[in-house]
Amino acid sequence: MALIVKKFGGSSVGSVEKIMAVAKRIIDEKKAGDKVVMVVSAMGDTTDDLIALAKGINKDPYQYSREMDMLLTTGEQVSISLLTMAFKTLGHKAVSLTGPLAGMKTNSVHTKGKLVDIKPTRVHEELDKGNIVVVAGFQGCDELGDPVTLGRGGSDTSAVALAGALKADSCEIFTDVDGVYSADPRIVKDARKMKEITYYEMLEMARLGAGVMQPRSVEMGKYFNIPIHVRSTFTTKTGTMIREEYTMEEKDFVIRGVAHDEKVAKIAVLGVPNNPGIAYSIFSALAEASVDVDMIVQSIRNIEKNVTDMVFTVASSDLSQAKKIVDRVADQLQAIAVLVEEDVAKVSIVGAGMLGNPGIAARMFGALSKAAVNIEVISTSEISISCLIKGAQLKEAVNAIHAEFFPQK
Ligand code: ADP
Ligand code: ASP
Ligand code: MG
Repeated sequence: MALIVKKFGGSSVGSVEKIMAVAKRIIDEKKAGDKVVMVVSAMGDTTDDLIALAKGINKDPYQYSREMDMLLTTGEQVSISLLTMAFKTLGHKAVSLTGPLAGMKTNSVHTKGKLVDIKPTRVHEELDKGNIVVVAGFQGCDELGDPVTLGRGGSDTSAVALAGALKADSCEIFTDVDGVYSADPRIVKDARKMKEITYYEMLEMARLGAGVMQPRSVEMGKYFNIPIHVRSTFTTKTGTMIREEYTMEEKDFVIRGVAHDEKVAKIAVLGVPNNPGIAYSIFSALAEASVDVDMIVQSIRNIEKNVTDMVFTVASSDLSQAKKIVDRVADQLQAIAVLVEEDVAKVSIVGAGMLGNPGIAARMFGALSKAAVNIEVISTSEISISCLIKGAQLKEAVNAIHAEFFPQK
């Protein structure tokens, strides 16, 4: 007898036919006595459609972040009720639970909440009654009971965290690709499927834009030390295992993958006085508003006038909020100007094997140079190198870098 958590993403439950197919598959694969918890996302593009509705009312709806959460949580409620009805129609006991009913407690940072506690008492009770439990991903509630969503792609985090809290025997993420690839297979035709990848490298891939897993879900997997199996909804093939360490030959790769992120924007604060505390004023104001800042470059602009430029990137979804904050601080600092560039993208290579392998950065820059892609900003971590480039050149950049590190055999 096993306790299994299975998460199905939006494209896997994009129509009533697909919901019915998911229910049939679960029933076919369920062994007698198995306890099954399903975590599901909103159907197809529902979340995007709900955001578009809100934008019809106000072009910057995220300023009303609590109301955005009230709106966005409805998407997952549609899928849990329909999937539960599908199980019942097929003659099986099932019950749907919203995130709050499943005990998912969050902080109060609306639209990018973090899980702070999970008390899945009700989930256990319903499993003990013989139900398949269908939980809404992406959502929880704060101390007041207000709905809070976990950021885009947050159902992955709901699933892995719930699997950890339930001490599940396995956690499977079903999606529209059959595993984690060396690059987004929608962009790189010859991307290679990985048999396994460590939490460490997957977290970096996800953080740098590989949307197949939400970064926080990988952190949760590591925290609970629960292996995550990423696999296809539409086939029964084995997918990719995300786990602590490699068990096979794959540890020999220097680079594990190429990640990209189109949803970034560049902000440049020009001509700020080059005094102690300037970076602090800008970035503490952004942090207070929970705006994550990514690549940061500070340069001496004019030594005589003692002013500098501060260039950094934020997620596109945070741009309007970030711009308001930076305009205010720049004004106080008497900066010359604040410029915003939206047509940028970030391309990155990831791999623990690059530690102690000095030629890797040069190979990445060489591939970009051969493809005539100009690099605007570079940043590095222990196991990744990222370049900010023009958005229009993203596809060729990703393919050029991938071809350099994963030549066709
Ligand atoms: P779901 O709705 O199931 O959560 P997502 O769209 O969030 O699915 O994630 C799956 C998508 O992630 C794939 O269709 C693929 O285009 C994208 N993706 C990006 N990078 C990778 C990668 N390295 N490996 C696999 N898929 C990736
Ligand atoms: N429906 C949410 C989104 O589109 C959560 C998820 O799919 O994981 O971001
Ligand atoms: Mg997803």
